[in-house]
Amino acid sequence: MSILIYCQENSRDELFAAMSVRFPSEKAESVGYEELSRGGAALVVDHELVPKLKKDETSHFESVYIYFKGRIYAVADADALVGERAEYINRGDWETAKDINEVLCDIDFLCKNTVNRSYPDFFQIESTNYCNSRCIMCEHYHSHNKKAELLSMETLEHMRDAIQLSRRINLNGIGEPFISKYLKQQIDMYVGYGNRIVANTNMSVLDDELIEYIGRDFEWLAISVDGATKETYERIRIGMSFEKVIGNLRLLKERAPHVKKIMSMVMMRQNVCEMPQLVELAHSVGIDQVVFLNLNPSLIIGNMQDVMLNWPKVAEYYSVKALEKGEELGVRIVVANAASLNRSITFGEIEEELSRMQSIPFWKSEEEEREMMRIAKIAEDYIAENSQEQNTTVATKVKCSGVCDWLLKSCYTNLHGDISLCCRNLIYRAGNVCSDGGFLSVWNAPLMQKSREIFYSGYLPEACLKCGMIEGGELKYLDVEIQPDFYQDSELKRQQKQKMIAMLGE
Ligand code: SF4
Repeated sequence: MSILIYCQENSRDELFAAMSVRFPSEKAESVGYEELSRGGAALVVDHELVPKLKKDETSHFESVYIYFKGRIYAVADADALVGERAEYINRGDWETAKDINEVLCDIDFLCKNTVNRSYPDFFQIESTNYCNSRCIMCEHYHSHNKKAELLSMETLEHMRDAIQLSRRINLNGIGEPFISKYLKQQIDMYVGYGNRIVANTNMSVLDDELIEYIGRDFEWLAISVDGATKETYERIRIGMSFEKVIGNLRLLKERAPHVKKIMSMVMMRQNVCEMPQLVELAHSVGIDQVVFLNLNPSLIIGNMQDVMLNWPKVAEYYSVKALEKGEELGVRIVVANAASLNRSITFGEIEEELSRMQSIPFWKSEEEEREMMRIAKIAEDYIAENSQEQNTTVATKVKCSGVCDWLLKSCYTNLHGDISLCCRNLIYRAGNVCSDGGFLSVWNAPLMQKSREIFYSGYLPEACLKCGMIEGGELKYLDVEIQPDFYQDSELKRQQKQKMIAMLGE
């Protein structure tokens, strides 16, 4: 039998060494992606290259194997691997159990399984939905922490099997994770199973013990800083202290220098002119990367005019200035459409747009805030009476190949144990780990199965229209042919907007 090998250059020698042990009398030939169409008796795929096989590349082979960390696994042996994974879990050998789980994930992907045998390796678990800030672009601006709670150890207990097999835990949901009094106990549990920790934070809460945890257990931290000056920062992030946050960042620079730190700013009319200054500030406090995000407007807040799409020249000018400042100081900058920005845009070209943008008041008056609260009350009452949760989705005409990472390797659960489709689609709920049969049962609930089935059939589910992660090219296991249909609102969003507009009498 002739075996084709599809591998990375740097793993070729070790893979051929493993082949000579597993198939000592077979001839093996290393091939590139294009040659996979030849098909044949057997194919061995390097684990690192599995995400590239989004189409039916392996269907022309009688047998398919995966190479991972010195061992060759047969795709046909998936059931036996489930048993082997369980043995390693029983022995408390989390690292080997996670390796086998990762191979099972490759198998789920290559076989286009709608019921996954593998558990996610990136697990986002909401620590709290309470926030100590009221940022003007966030739902906490009007929700005032109503119904805020902390994740309990009892709820977490229902996810222990998934935590044993994940590699990274993200502490975030819709609140500030560092205020949870249970957080250190929960981090101890995650780390006890070999997880690394990541989090987004406003960095307003930091004590000596937490600094130790960050230095020891964290892989990266993303810190939200929406202004480079005290005035702008504190008007956007109501309740926060600029000096406190900058002081905490300096402490982390000194005591946890090796942890990757990312600063993020939501670009809005109110802070766009401070983008280059923010890069300088980031550099001075030891930040590795600055990410500028687009604002997601809210009908309740009524901040459509703050979105920088309305002020494209201003956005372009300050994005270029931020990129230049990053290049000068050695700070990596992430900004939308960086490659297509006009790097020679001048201030003269934006003056007129800038003065129109600045002629509209930046901040809500007290009367406007009262009006926002009136609208929020109407919306909350409506949501309370009409459950908005969705437990299925349908296919669109937008073509794709592969599957979203959030249905294969990543999972979002809120502090009650509700698993959602992904971190940006919380309203699509698969079920609850405490009441619906445990983690694996919810991970394979009808919503998840249906969504995987739609992806693997070559079309995008309706819930995924306008997905920012697709636009940003952040999904490793999915390719989407972006066309005008992609930018349509889903039926649910259309209905929500119409009802909201009708209720508000606009
Ligand atoms: S494609 Fe986007 S919206 Fe759809 S599941 Fe993935 S991350 Fe969520």
